Amino acid sequence: MKINKVVVIGSGTMGSGIAAHLCNANVPVTLLDLTTEISQKAKERIQKSRPPLLIDKSKIDGINVGNINDDFKEVADADWIVEAVVERIDIKHNIYKKIFDTRKKNTIVSSNTSSIPISVLSEKLSEEDKKDFCITHFFNPVRYMGLLEIVKSKSSDLDKINYLKKFCEHELGKGAIICNDTPGFLGNRIGVFAMQVAMTEAFKMNLSIEEADAIFGRPMGIPKTGVFGLYDLIGIDLMSDVLKSFIKELPETDPFQRVAKEIPLITKLIKDGYTGRKGKGGFYRMNKQENKKILEAINLQTGEYSTSKKIELGIEKIDLNLLINRKDKFGEYAWSVISQIIKYSSSLVPGITDKFNDIDEAMRLGFNWSMGPFEMLKSIGVKNFFDRVGDVKGNSFLENLSKTKDENFYGQRQLYTDIETLGKIKPKAIKIDKNKSADIFRFKDFNIVEFTTKACALDYDSMDALKNATDKPLIIINESMQFSAGVNLKYTMEFVEKGDFKSIEKFIKYFQQTCKHLKYSQYPVISAPSGLVLGGGEEVAIQSNFVVSHTNIVMGLVETGVGVVPAGGGCKEVLWRWSQTDEAKKDPDYAPLQVFNIIGYAKTATSTVEALPLKFLRPEDKKVMNRNSLFEEAKKLLEENKNFQPPKECTFKLSGKPLKDKMIKSLEKLYNDKIILDHGFKVGEELANVLSGGDTTIDKQLSEDDLYNLELEAFMRLIQTEKTQQRIKHTLATGKPLIN
Ligand code: NAD
Repeated sequence: MKINKVVVIGSGTMGSGIAAHLCNANVPVTLLDLTTEISQKAKERIQKSRPPLLIDKSKIDGINVGNINDDFKEVADADWIVEAVVERIDIKHNIYKKIFDTRKKNTIVSSNTSSIPISVLSEKLSEEDKKDFCITHFFNPVRYMGLLEIVKSKSSDLDKINYLKKFCEHELGKGAIICNDTPGFLGNRIGVFAMQVAMTEAFKMNLSIEEADAIFGRPMGIPKTGVFGLYDLIGIDLMSDVLKSFIKELPETDPFQRVAKEIPLITKLIKDGYTGRKGKGGFYRMNKQENKKILEAINLQTGEYSTSKKIELGIEKIDLNLLINRKDKFGEYAWSVISQIIKYSSSLVPGITDKFNDIDEAMRLGFNWSMGPFEMLKSIGVKNFFDRVGDVKGNSFLENLSKTKDENFYGQRQLYTDIETLGKIKPKAIKIDKNKSADIFRFKDFNIVEFTTKACALDYDSMDALKNATDKPLIIINESMQFSAGVNLKYTMEFVEKGDFKSIEKFIKYFQQTCKHLKYSQYPVISAPSGLVLGGGEEVAIQSNFVVSHTNIVMGLVETGVGVVPAGGGCKEVLWRWSQTDEAKKDPDYAPLQVFNIIGYAKTATSTVEALPLKFLRPEDKKVMNRNSLFEEAKKLLEENKNFQPPKECTFKLSGKPLKDKMIKSLEKLYNDKIILDHGFKVGEELANVLSGGDTTIDKQLSEDDLYNLELEAFMRLIQTEKTQQRIKHTLATGKPLIN
């Protein structure tokens, strides 16, 4: 069979997300709802969504819309029909009747339900129809969430399920995990249990919500929204419905029941319209005081709000042993939460899946945890865990492990996929070097560099790892979400605070030398970005010889936002790319003026498609839908380039002062229109100086080193200004740019 056309029924949050993602994969899709107006509105929502659900907004008309009365005939020539209507069994049953009466034989029909068992969904279907029915549980937002749970029943045609899994992996880029028909499947069963444990323990131990979120967050390898922040994001009312469904579906003896009980404060919040970010606020809320927005946090005991406090735990890296052994309430809380998650998850093996590994992967893909429960157990160490955990009677997985005490119980990663992923390769590779910011692996005849800092921010050590790894062909790739959010601003500010600008200069020079080395070293260098590819991160990517990029990226040279200019070769390299265009060959000022706009406005691309016209990516760079495939594709490129020759050094001819004057003129207009302020003007002037070639004339030839020097000089002048320092401090504190 082949999936050439899909019909999605129900154009709400999930249906529209699924339709948009099919459109991303260039699969023709029709979206039906009760009325065409509703599905048309959904299309408008898709077009305006942020972060964007579409990789390429101009493709929106790849989605046809209609209604279930006049346009149901669309189902007749679809190969896959996805039902994503409201979570009501009577409505779903009616729709299935219509679908199975209309569809072509052998096509796949699936539901996106998050809580109704497949046995109930399919109870009215014939045995023949049951073969073609399954649950495809996508997560919201569909484009960005890696996990897709495919739930099969005893009647499912396994060949079809496997075909669908491959389609969803390769065409839609999902981490597709096949699950049994158990309540909440894998991701939500463990993820929601974990949230409930984190919440009930916070109440029990009298922790503030900020304290709980500070622990049940980055230190545990969990996104920083923690538990209370995540509740607000999902919707407190929606979470309450999810819990009700778990209470109904699970046996009374299931430990989930203990942590799913109604909490009076939550009932009150929902009643008062405090349903989270979509409502008046939730556990956190934004309040205005004297025209300033203040983030407030609720007191779990009194229900009163007060200004939210930042909790400093002094934790830089994930180290579960260090965390659970802290002799304070944070250590106690962490152990209590982690041990309960491990105990519960392992108690469900083999009932919900015979591969415990799938639970870990579901938590990575669906909840963005950096480790699943079994990896947490591995990281704590089997002996350490059993020394502390107490009785594990009735939990056959832990009982067995307590006998074998096998520290290597874990085995391979990512068993759910055939793709050769970085996660699978790392344990087979030799870690030849590491420093505090990056690891270097040797696999076969090439090296891999993985950045290991928070958001993969770059510093001297990151550059050192890259430089040292070029003694072989090199792939730069990370398992964590981001390629790199750019140069580590905190690291830079530490030198600023000490007035040590010499060290900053040394770092920038080393950054430049390293990037130049990546470009011209004897062996090919491949960057395989996904997630954030910003500032210095982009400079590394664009000065690599080849790029294999995930389609979900946020790419841009955003340095001007923090009051500096790209100084690791970013200005130079983008300028070079633009100077290769036909327009640039006719007009020497064309390329620098384009780049002045792109970098000056800190333009970012939110997909590979948007990165192309900015020339952050080139047409020949590879784009892949599945993040898991980045490594495999990068490896293929190395194989295809066995006879690699480094590129020829590029040179530039720039107009100097007359060109700079043009740029300044456009800055003056922005300044007069109050779009930029004093420092914005100053930063623009420095950028103009770099891109116009400084003190040059059109007949002079400039080398790459000349451009690197101009970048460095501009950067050093700017970093020493108070206003740039204010910008950086502001961004570090708020994550937002300061306009000054
Ligand atoms: P929603 O309320 O946003 O959208 C439901 C849509 O179904 C509405 O547009 C409604 O008009 C339409 N609808 C209702 N009756 C219909 C009918 N008879 N024919 C055609 N359309 C009809 O709901 P949602 O959040 O998109 O959820 C859809 C499904 O996905 C549910 O089964 C839900 O459990 C599941 N789910 C939701 C999420 C989530 O985060 N929202 C995540 C995973 C799964």
